[in-house]
Amino acid sequence: FYSSGVRKCTLIPGDGIGPEISAAVQKIFAAAKVPVEWESVDVTPVRGPDGKFGIPQAAIDSVNKNKVGLKGPLMTPVGKGHRSLNLALRKEFNLYANVRPCKSLEGYKTLYDHVDVVTIRENTEGEYSGIEHEIVDGVVQSIKLITEDASRRVAEFAFQFTKENNRQKVTAVHKANIMRMSDGLFLRCCRDTAEKFPDVKFEEKYLDTVCLNMVQDPTQYDVLVMPNLYGDILSDMCAGLVGGLGLTPSGNIGLNGALFESVHGTAPDIAGQDKANPTALLLSAVMMLKYMGLTEHAKKIENACYDTIKEGKYLTGDLGGKAKCSEFTNEICSKIA
Ligand code: NAD
Repeated sequence: FYSSGVRKCTLIPGDGIGPEISAAVQKIFAAAKVPVEWESVDVTPVRGPDGKFGIPQAAIDSVNKNKVGLKGPLMTPVGKGHRSLNLALRKEFNLYANVRPCKSLEGYKTLYDHVDVVTIRENTEGEYSGIEHEIVDGVVQSIKLITEDASRRVAEFAFQFTKENNRQKVTAVHKANIMRMSDGLFLRCCRDTAEKFPDVKFEEKYLDTVCLNMVQDPTQYDVLVMPNLYGDILSDMCAGLVGGLGLTPSGNIGLNGALFESVHGTAPDIAGQDKANPTALLLSAVMMLKYMGLTEHAKKIENACYDTIKEGKYLTGDLGGKAKCSEFTNEICSKIA
């Protein structure tokens, strides 16, 4: 399927700065002669025959057909009756694992210089299964759902990812000391999977211990796999260690394809002003290329981006520079050429 020729990828430019940073990525891909043809789709919710708002069918068909997509940030309208579009996409495409590499960037100084961790978060159940009810007045119950199937598939993905990316160790992050049954099941699935990957080191750590260690010495971790809520929090904490959400890429891996996206929002304060930093979306696109097996193109773009940040001549405002998004983009393109 991925062997040769030009492949089509779905592009969801998104809102706010989304179109600007998507254009930057497209320009850089063209400069690197990446054999990818973009199919741009709009995911603004439309009213279906049942009267409910949902993702347009054309967008769903495009992702289902192409199997890979890149997505900019989407505005979540404030107010009742609107389900998060991000959540809808996650459900629609069964995106079960959220992957976030957090790597220190040379040239952008943060607390630690050598952070290189990947968080892998179970993305479909756990604390976010959305099963909540009021038992009696003033007493609310929320159900954390953990299944063997979902735990096993995310554990398998984590070990496979570790192996394919020449990484050494998987840490299962849990609270099975308190949530004996639910986290116990998750942990058991990780242990079973570890046996199938004898060349990958495996360890188990309590969530609180990982938080403590991570801010004291992040170099002791490599790949971390965990249930939904823990992953939501820990992945943002790791992003904070390397310079924040503006630089962090992510991938959502599904049963039948994958959607890659920047982690930041639509940045309405700077939208339309050519000030946005396209790095997070570009590095998400690089993850996409690696997923598709286009490693050479991925490395070329990644290095050009890292070098541009390292040199510090064309940095956008969020990184303390004065460059426009287009100037930063052009510098990356010229490095590729
Ligand atoms: P935000 O990430 O949009 O902005 C926070 C701050 O970071 C702003 O000052 C912004 O200018 C800056 N920033 C973010 N990305 C940047 C970039 N690439 N380059 C330079 N500066 C950048 O967060 P917010 O203001 O809380 O949210 C705005 C909107 O985005 C909301 O509608 C929210 O629902 C949505 N949102 C979407 C996603 C997503 O689609 N994945 C994620 C978070 C927020």
